[in-house]
Amino acid sequence: MFEAPVCPDNRVRGQSPPRIPHEALRLMATTYPVSRWKIGAAAITRVVEIEGDSPGTFFFEEATPERLLQHAWLRPHFLTGDGRVIASIHCFVIESAGRTIVVDTCVGNDKPREVKAWHMRQGRFLEDLAEAGFPRERVDTVLCTHLHVDHVGWNTMLAEGKWVPTFPNARYLLGKKEWAHWSNEPEGPDREVRNDSVRPILEAGLADLVATDHRITPEVCLEPTPGHTPHHQSLLLESDGARVFYPADLMPTSAHIPLPWIMGYDVEPLRTLESKRWILRRAVDEDWRLVFEHDAYVMSGRVAVDGKGYGFRVEGSGQRAAG
Ligand SMILES: [Zn+2]
Repeated sequence: MFEAPVCPDNRVRGQSPPRIPHEALRLMATTYPVSRWKIGAAAITRVVEIEGDSPGTFFFEEATPERLLQHAWLRPHFLTGDGRVIASIHCFVIESAGRTIVVDTCVGNDKPREVKAWHMRQGRFLEDLAEAGFPRERVDTVLCTHLHVDHVGWNTMLAEGKWVPTFPNARYLLGKKEWAHWSNEPEGPDREVRNDSVRPILEAGLADLVATDHRITPEVCLEPTPGHTPHHQSLLLESDGARVFYPADLMPTSAHIPLPWIMGYDVEPLRTLESKRWILRRAVDEDWRLVFEHDAYVMSGRVAVDGKGYGFRVEGSGQRAAG
């Protein structure tokens, strides 16, 4: 039902595409660039754009190496030996009911960005996506769970000096209220992101502004999970009795399962807590398997009740799959 990650024959573990070095973000090859699972009649493919480690203070001012290293359980999946946070940025491609759905579009190439490792990237994400079986013309649906910089980047690409839709044959599903929220914020660092990665999609007539509980196929629907952004949405896939949940940045890694562990830049952190409470309850009650947006090593797993709180059982990791 849920197969272990497999590495396509033409890829060798540790053979990572060339990446751009960055003084704060160390890049590495921890997992396969492409992993794929069968879920009932559907399939999920994980295509990595960036992996690396960065200072915890990038997320939380107080998350110094000394403080993080006090939490032994964070090693080795989430923390390096010198206390840096390990993370990944990847997209998921879901094949369901004849649809090919790209979920969250990472950082993108050629874009001016504040984070140096993301600035004017020249990564080979589109080549990796095509090698995984998804040339960009084949994609018919793109979903952005929210409109942060690392979830909308490949919405567009640079062509003859203009930002054009990367997936010309796709409908792009954007949260109606999420867009209303951000489009009413005239200033701030995200403005450039909206202008180069979201507005061109609307102007090309490829955007469908959807509700946070929109159903994409009979097997795939959105779940409203506000907090990280005011109208953040997650995705639930159900096929032949198997359920997989993608919480996006509500819980960006499996280290964020315990209730108090939330993102440093959630817009509404108390709502994140509320969303986490009911999502984690359902994950246990309905036996969901979770996959994560920013986990480098942990591929998937299940939520477990742990005393009065919640823990996590890893059921697939980059390390284990590599033997
Ligand atoms: Zn993110």
